[in-house]
Amino acid sequence: MSNGVETLEFQAEARQLLQLMVHSIYSNKDIFLRELISNASDALDKLRISSLVDKELVADTSDLHVELEVDKERRTLTVRDNGIGMSREEVVQLIGTIAKSGTGELLRKLRESQDAAASRELIGQFGVGFYSTFMVADTVTLVTRRAGQSEGTRWESTGEGTYTVEAVEDAPQGTTVTLHLKPEDSEDNLHDYTTEWKIREIVKRYSDFIAWPIRMAAEGADEPRTLNSMKALWARPRSEVADEEYHEFYKHVSHDWADPLDIVHMRGEGVFEYEALLFIPSHAPFDLFMQEARRGVQLYVKRVFIMDDCAALIPHYLRFVKGVVDAHDLSLNISREILQQDRQIQVVRRRLVKKVLATVRDMMANHADRYETFWREFGRAVKEGLIEDEENREAILDVVSLASTHDAESLTTLRGYVERMPEGQSAVYYMTGESRSMIENSPHMEAFRAKGYEVLVLTDPVDEIWVDRVGEFDGKPLQSIAKGQVDLGAAQEERPEGFDALLAWLGERLGDEVREVRLSTRLTTSPACIVGDEHDITPTLEKLYRAMGQEVPPVKRILELNPTHPLVTGLRTAQEQGGADEVLGETAELLYGMALLAEGGDLKDPARFSRLLADRLARTL
Ligand code: ADP
Ligand code: MG
Repeated sequence: MSNGVETLEFQAEARQLLQLMVHSIYSNKDIFLRELISNASDALDKLRISSLVDKELVADTSDLHVELEVDKERRTLTVRDNGIGMSREEVVQLIGTIAKSGTGELLRKLRESQDAAASRELIGQFGVGFYSTFMVADTVTLVTRRAGQSEGTRWESTGEGTYTVEAVEDAPQGTTVTLHLKPEDSEDNLHDYTTEWKIREIVKRYSDFIAWPIRMAAEGADEPRTLNSMKALWARPRSEVADEEYHEFYKHVSHDWADPLDIVHMRGEGVFEYEALLFIPSHAPFDLFMQEARRGVQLYVKRVFIMDDCAALIPHYLRFVKGVVDAHDLSLNISREILQQDRQIQVVRRRLVKKVLATVRDMMANHADRYETFWREFGRAVKEGLIEDEENREAILDVVSLASTHDAESLTTLRGYVERMPEGQSAVYYMTGESRSMIENSPHMEAFRAKGYEVLVLTDPVDEIWVDRVGEFDGKPLQSIAKGQVDLGAAQEERPEGFDALLAWLGERLGDEVREVRLSTRLTTSPACIVGDEHDITPTLEKLYRAMGQEVPPVKRILELNPTHPLVTGLRTAQEQGGADEVLGETAELLYGMALLAEGGDLKDPARFSRLLADRLARTL
């Protein structure tokens, strides 16, 4: 390969994102500096860890810091770190492409959004990192050398589709980013990033807690000045930290541009000392339900950054919680594997979970609007906890909100449901399915509606699983209205007689499709419905598993008939009187098909079904 200048193209997604930056859809341009300092700080963290883990690494770690430099004449601002740096491949990989999951979806939404404010919101949720430099610069130059390597790399771009890379001989260890600032905005020189006070102010506001010194040459002084206090926010008493500071810190750890919904600041004393500063975001990240979703808690040991995405500290269902845990008595060298088994870490994790759930409960009790946002954004993830985390099942059930037939507009808690249960109702009734309207209109609902019993309407895929696993609430069984026998207290009524022959005949006739045919107590207006046994998986779950590529043995369910429906009584009479086998058989097929359709199921042979139906209809005219 030549040592000359090579011109490369940005990856398509990166190009589109850059376009947005160049045309500056975000109004608060100051944050580009936070992004650069955050990257520099990460690079210093990484170098410190590498040098601990890899004794062979030849790197200078004696004075790790970030340095800022302005040049008024040339209108440049430079951010320099002596951290881990990047190899040539890394520059191309990390700066030339975006590996973040959800990029495609974000860009699609941005294209569709006509509203500038909504676009800003979207892009803010995504976090644009290094590319935000193109909001203020028309050319960006990056010179970097990976610690332990001899050759450096120079990267340059105007953010317009391509960039250049070339090898350089004399690059210092770490990364130097130089912004060639756009011409000054005459309307407000607020955007003059070459003035010392402006830079100082931005650093103070956004990056004060950064653990490494951020230095800048001061006018009239020989020594550069350190701009940040480097005080770890989590180590300060809550009473001394302003909300503003919490929010900026949150934005630093989360890459979010919006303020958090709630803050959890706690410390543990005694045998195992730690401090935790956690945040509940105000919106879900794009990748919340993607395979590669990461956990948002970072681990520090005595103020030293150890790792991101610390799974040992927070369970999967709370993966959206962001923040920092500083544990005082761990080795700096600790690995993820050892961490998972560390007893004390397990104790910390337990306390964090309880505290987060208590915070949600408090929101629920005292800040209804915030809780509503929380549940809308994270409810689906939290419900996974009902399956994952048996220890906290009760606490999770307390903060769950569910749709119900009680009120179409708002959700209910399980507690609220139980309190509304009329005398004589012994179970918490629910139905799972793909949509609210499907559930509400399903024949299974009829008798419950007639009785005035409330039914929970569960439409999230995860609902299918937790209801089974949880089994009961407050001593009352959770009972699917589409499963098992229902006893609506109407058992006193007489069991209709004279259907035995019909049931036996239908059972045989439809034997390939259903396990049993029986009379129903849950129907008032429909002729028939299909129900599962207590432990059968539901049709929605069956579909879900199939969609995930899992083998599911076909489940035969039960056909229930409404003994008061004219179609059923008519069929009985016809069968008793020895009607033509073909006509009866077709009627049985239609009856079963209608029951399937009514619950939103799929017919095996839709063409045949509509032909039979059309023939019948034609005869009625
Ligand atoms: P993010 O920080 O969210 O990963 P950025 O766009 O800010 O996204 O940066 C992209 C990647 O480029 C970083 O993850 C990092 O690997 C690399 N990078 C950026 N700045 C530096 C730096 N100063 N030193 C080393 N690597 C850097
Ligand atoms: Mg970054």
